[in-house]
Amino acid sequence: AMPLVVATSTAQAAKNGLLIRNRTQFENARKIDTVVFDKTGTLTHGEFKVNFIELFDDHYNKEQVIQLAASLENNSEHPIATGIIEKLKEMNLETITTSDFKAIKGKGVEGIIKEQKVMVVSPGFLKEKNIEVPTDLPVHGVSTDVFLLLEDKLIAAIGLSDKIREESYRAIKRLKKEGIKTWMLTGDNEETAKQVSAELELDGYFAEVLPDQKQDKIKELQAKGNFVAMTGDGVNDAPALAQADVGIAIGSGSDIAAETADIILVNSDPEDVVVLIDFGRATYKKMI
Ligand code: ADP
Ligand code: MG
Repeated sequence: AMPLVVATSTAQAAKNGLLIRNRTQFENARKIDTVVFDKTGTLTHGEFKVNFIELFDDHYNKEQVIQLAASLENNSEHPIATGIIEKLKEMNLETITTSDFKAIKGKGVEGIIKEQKVMVVSPGFLKEKNIEVPTDLPVHGVSTDVFLLLEDKLIAAIGLSDKIREESYRAIKRLKKEGIKTWMLTGDNEETAKQVSAELELDGYFAEVLPDQKQDKIKELQAKGNFVAMTGDGVNDAPALAQADVGIAIGSGSDIAAETADIILVNSDPEDVVVLIDFGRATYKKMI
């Protein structure tokens, strides 16, 4: 049977926005010495807005660029896709027929439009294909740039930005005060990751991590003797949530993340990670 103090604290935890799926891991929360956060949708709002469109080919204008990109992104659920489709609507444009859609894991999307291969991809993907990554693009806060390719030719850059959640600043400050190390894990590019990490004063970050490598980064931290919590919202965070000593899902995130996690932050507030650790510590004191 479950000890009474644990039963009580599970109910109390629920009142504080923590949904406990795994009681053992909840009790283990007091041992957490390292918290890894996913970036998009966890430390940030995960709501991208298009800030600029930069053209590299005079055969295309901004309307055509957004129409091609959005028609492709219409098949994707990534927050970047949502941002580009928002821009299409804002410009009063409509999508055009796309076929053969494929997601390139952690790197972008591709498909066929009017018999041409169209891609919207990351700077990392350009490097891989030996396409020079344009420098001196405008910078707006936490910016993520993607690139439109037509038949493997660079046509335009689309600059998007996302915002760090206010709660993230508070969460990181409080964790530091409690002597807990904070890390970020993201598929986004090095520059953006560095910027967010500096802004939040994190202890470290892993950038340009492909979805199936996220769990390896958790293993790396564990191999150094750390007791690691992972906090994430996405489908691609699920393996890392499973690998972590304590897996924490953001409530507004994907069902798969929630089903994999030990604890769900019902209010989607990263600061509740601190509440969880404090709870774990208090519960333990009561038991001994
Ligand atoms: P994360 O969830 O950590 O941002 P992802 O693996 O989902 O990481 O994405 C990593 C990168 O791959 C993005 O920053 C972006 O450059 C590119 N990418 C992923 N999905 C898309 C998409 N639908 N459209 C354009 N780029 C994408
Ligand atoms: Mg995310």
